[in-house]
Formats: sequence, structure tokens, C-alpha cells
Amino acid sequence: MSETTALAAATATPNPLLDLTGLPRYGEIAADHIEPAVRAQLAQCRAGLEALLAQPAAGFAALVEPFEALQQQLSRVFAPISHLNAVVNTPELRAAYNACVPLMAEYGTEIGQNEELHVAYQRLQVAAVGLNPVQRQVLHYALRDFKLAGVGLPAATKARYKDIMQELAQLQAKFEENVLDATNAWHRNVVDEAELAGLPAHVMAHAAGLAAEAGVAGWRLPLDGPTYMAVMSHAATRQLRRDFYEAWNTRASDRGPGAGTYDNSQLIEDILRLRHEAANWLGFANYAELSLATKMASSVEEVLAFLADLAQRYQQAACVELAELTAFAGEPLEAWDIGWHAERLKRERYAVSEEALRPYFPLPRVMEGLFTVLGKLYGLRLKQRAVPLWHADASYHEVLSQDGAIIGGLYLDLYARPGKRGGAWMGECIGRTALQAHATLPVANVVCNFAPPSAGKPALLTHYDVTTLFHEFGHALHHLLTRVDYPSLSGINGVAWDAVELPSQIMEQWCWRPEALPLLSSHVDTGEPLPAELLERLLNSRRFQAGLFGARQLEFALFDFQLHAQYSPAAGARLAETLAAARATAAAVQAPEWNRFAHAFSHIFAGGYAAGYYSYKWAEVLAADAFSAFEEAGVFDSATAQRFRDEVLACGGSREAMDAFVAFRGRKPDPAALLRQQGLAA
Ligand SMILES: [Zn+2]
Repeated sequence: MSETTALAAATATPNPLLDLTGLPRYGEIAADHIEPAVRAQLAQCRAGLEALLAQPAAGFAALVEPFEALQQQLSRVFAPISHLNAVVNTPELRAAYNACVPLMAEYGTEIGQNEELHVAYQRLQVAAVGLNPVQRQVLHYALRDFKLAGVGLPAATKARYKDIMQELAQLQAKFEENVLDATNAWHRNVVDEAELAGLPAHVMAHAAGLAAEAGVAGWRLPLDGPTYMAVMSHAATRQLRRDFYEAWNTRASDRGPGAGTYDNSQLIEDILRLRHEAANWLGFANYAELSLATKMASSVEEVLAFLADLAQRYQQAACVELAELTAFAGEPLEAWDIGWHAERLKRERYAVSEEALRPYFPLPRVMEGLFTVLGKLYGLRLKQRAVPLWHADASYHEVLSQDGAIIGGLYLDLYARPGKRGGAWMGECIGRTALQAHATLPVANVVCNFAPPSAGKPALLTHYDVTTLFHEFGHALHHLLTRVDYPSLSGINGVAWDAVELPSQIMEQWCWRPEALPLLSSHVDTGEPLPAELLERLLNSRRFQAGLFGARQLEFALFDFQLHAQYSPAAGARLAETLAAARATAAAVQAPEWNRFAHAFSHIFAGGYAAGYYSYKWAEVLAADAFSAFEEAGVFDSATAQRFRDEVLACGGSREAMDAFVAFRGRKPDPAALLRQQGLAA
């Protein structure tokens, strides 16, 4: 039965989403089960909480544990809903899912603002007697989140705080909308094919289709991300690159071809002002401090020192790479020339194409190799089992420890198909808990979008795909190997999000090791291993222009962090000055004066990366440094793996991320390993 018919077949039997006795009953869940199940579970949570709060002076076991269990049940009901919405989307599913989103958000706000619950948790924290460290951490994080939701504020302030939050949500949504509209408002019509020289065939075909649709001759190049990247890397025509660069880097601003139409300038001012005010109400000096309240980095000074140190090193390397590229090009380079010449240099030097590697990475071989790596490191085995699934491509595996005990489960769904959200991710299906009467083993979803098998051959992966698979398995291990009993802290829950990419990024490291690659690769037709020369070129390509890439990341990170750390209502946003300072510290490539990249920097003005963009680099440092412990002891050293499992993976949010790292590595993180890996060590 296909997923659509299964989803359409609502039955009169009890709602399968509310059956929490085992794995989700995929195959029986219909779109019209969704909203009733969510409403029923929310009602149960509200009634349950009311009953818990009615108990006089309830202790941890009588209040926090049953409340955690209620929250856990809600997550379990909602997990298969959001999963199905992402992997087998249909109009009915989407409508049902969208109907539930505001219900879930409303409940979340209600909990965050619940004075009575807040007071009860405070009382337990003060009493604290007989609580173990994990229980204390449950209270500590819950109270932190109450504070960040504005619960403890006096009534008048609380109302203002709520208004700010609402206004910010609207302004940020408007920012994103302007970026989208500005992006869609520009395109380039080309009639002379020579002007498009160098562009890949799929870009040309897409552009020809758009021109035909619009009834114009030739080609129409839209200003979307993939087309912009293709033009920057492959278009031989310099003027075309320049025009695209200008259109892209002035979107939603006062400059460029759409100047003033969707201008985000005022929104940036307003967003920064309101964030600063909100931070002040909560007792923080600025928004950067507020951002760090939920992160591994402990202070504004620590982040700035981290960024300044790396910026200096990356800038130095970037300048050398730029000089080399300029010599290769034989002419002075503008910002819109870098990508084009870099692509040519890369081809000349490494001649490694992702496409040429595909036959060496058939998916069954990669999976076998991945399981071998997990066996060597953690003694894990995976055993496929037949359970109800949402699609024929999906599979379910029991995760077994060395002694054969089941420690959790894992759903895999790896191929791209219509109706499935793009990208790759790990999601929680069931979180681990040991709460009485509700004990559950962890179950994870790993979802990717690899090109499906064709012509009687298995799916063939690029090396990038292999790395992606390892990355998501790293998140899954974090989820599956947890030993924490409380759902709010088990697995990836409660983990500071500048540290949550450590388990995933460290797994990627094995994809770059000559000890591991032969386990993952064998030619789909001949079974031959990856030839030594191809392997070497692949490994070398990792370092290509690491300086230029890193310098850019650091420029963005410094700009973002300083913008929020140095904000003062009197001086306003100071975009230009802050950007100039970040560039002076980090950049190698001179951007033109009219570049307005900040006006489309949705990560920080519309998304969750405000005063948090540094996290990308932070997590890279953690992963490379943690992996260097394996390099020292042997990349499959089981004692090192056991330590990583015990000190980091098993602990989830029950322990501060820095404490976990130090316990594993014996010291604080050091960027030396990352710099060495990228060829930037002195
Ligand atoms: Zn990740």
C-alpha cells in the first residue's frame, strides 16, 4: 500500500498517534488523526499539570518527574507527525500539520510563562536536599528558560517584554520576506549564448525553460542561490559575474539594481534596538550576553578573543592564497573574479570531481563500512527488523551493544523523492527516559536526500554525501548512546547549541582518513578500492583555499557578534563601522564600498544565529580537537572511543558542554588541530 492511500484511510479504531506502547504505527496514521491527537494530548498535558500543581509542596519526584513524563508524551505524539510532514508531504498532511503548529506554540508559551510552575521549581532548587547533580541540572535549565521567557519580570515590564517579542517576530519575518522578494525581483535575460560560456548544462537548461515560460528569447537567469553560485564559479564572462555579484550583494538594500524597493535598513535598526532592550529587561548588558546564556561559550570576551585569534591566522593564510590566485589569474582580482579563478585553479591542481568518485561509493558498501566503524569504536551492531514504515525506501534497525542488548532503534530514509523535504537531518522519534512507568529506549530518524538507485545499480554517493551520512549518524549516536534518565536532558536535549555539532562533526573526520576510506569504498562494477592517487587528491582537496573560506566565515562571525555586543541605543546599528572593523580584522578580499551583504544576512536578522554565527567555527574547533585525541591514540582506538562515549555522548544536556569536553580531552579546546588539518599551522 502506498503512503498516500495509507494516510487517506482514516479508520474508526482508536487514534494510532495516541498509542505510545511501542514504535509509531506508521501505515495506520491518517491526516485526520493528527489534529485530534494533538488536541487530546495537549488537553491531557494541561490537566496533568494542573493536578501536579494542586499538590501542596510537592517534591521533585511528585512534580518534576511526572511533568517531564507529560512533556515526553507530547513529544512522542508530535514526532511522527512532523516526521511524516517532512518525508511524505501531501496537501492533507500539510494542512493537518499546519493546524497543529500554533497549538503547539501556544502551549509552549503557556509553559514558559507559567508563574506557578516557575515558583514551584524555584522552591525545589532552594530546598535541593537529596537531589543528584542531574536532577539539579534539570531544575537549573528549566529556571534559566523561565527567566529567558520573561517570567520573573514585574507586571508592567512583562507586558512590554511580550510586546517586544511579538514585534521582533514580525520584524524578522518581514526581513526574510524582503530578502525573498528582492531575490525574486531580479533576473538577467541573455540572448547571446556566448555570454553564458562556461555555465553547466543543467543551469542553461533551467534558464532556457524560464525564458520559454516568460515568452522571451534565449535564456533567463534567476537570482537564486544555485544560479548565483554557478555564475560566480563557472561563468567566463566577467561582466555577467559582476552584474550577478552586484544584484546578489545589494539585495534588500539602498544600493544596486533594486535600490530602496525592499530596503531592510530600517528593519535592521529596529531589530537591533529591540533585541538590546529585551536583553536589558532580563538583566543582560547586551544581546550578545543574552545569546550566550544558552551556549557553551561563557562570556563576550571569550568569544571575541576566540574570533580575533582565528581571524588573524585565517587572514594571513587567505592573503597568501589570494596572492597565489592573482598570480594564477595573471591580473588583479575583484570580488566577482575569485570564485571563477578558484574553480579553474582547483581543477588544475586536484582534478578531483565529485562525479568521478561516485562509482567508488555504492551505498551498500558505505553502510557496511559505517557499521564497521561504529563496531570498532563503540562495539555497536545494527540489525534490520521489519516494522511498519512510511515508505518502501525506509528501513528500521535495532541498535545492539557488544553483549547483544538492545539499546535503541534507528529509522533510515536516504533517497530523494517528490514530497520529501531537501537536505539531511537527524530527528528524535523517541527520547530515552527511565521515569517510572514511562521508561523508553531512544529511537532516532536519519534522513538524507541521496540520488536514488538507477539502472539496476545501487545508489552511488559522492564523497560529500558520505560525509553527510556520517554527520547525521554522529547526531544519532548522541541521541542513542545517552544514559540520562530525564527527557529534557537526554540525547541532544538541553545541549548548548554551539556544542551540539561536536558529535556530528567529529564523525565526519573518519571520512577523511586513509585508515577508514578503504572500508567505505569499492568500485561498484569491479570491487576495486579507491586508487591511491585519487585518494590522495581527494584528501588534498580538503585544504584548498581553507584560508579564504575561513576568513569569510570569521568576517561574518565577528560582524554579527560585535554588532550585538557593542550596540548602544544612542549610536544605533553602526552597520558600516562594524563591518569595516570585521573586514580589517579578518578579510583578505576587498569588497566594494556598495556591498550590502548584511541586508540579506537572514541567519542573524531573521533566523536563530543572532550573536551565534561564531558557533560554526566554534564547533569545528571542538570536533577537530576532539578527533586529535583519536589521531594520537589511533583512529579506531577503543579506549579513546569509550572515553568520548562516557564523557560526551552519554551525558546529553546533564553536564555543561565545557565540562564534558575537558573531561574527555583533559584540557580546554585548542584550535591547533583544526589549523593543522586545514594546512594553516605555522
Ligand atoms: Zn548537524
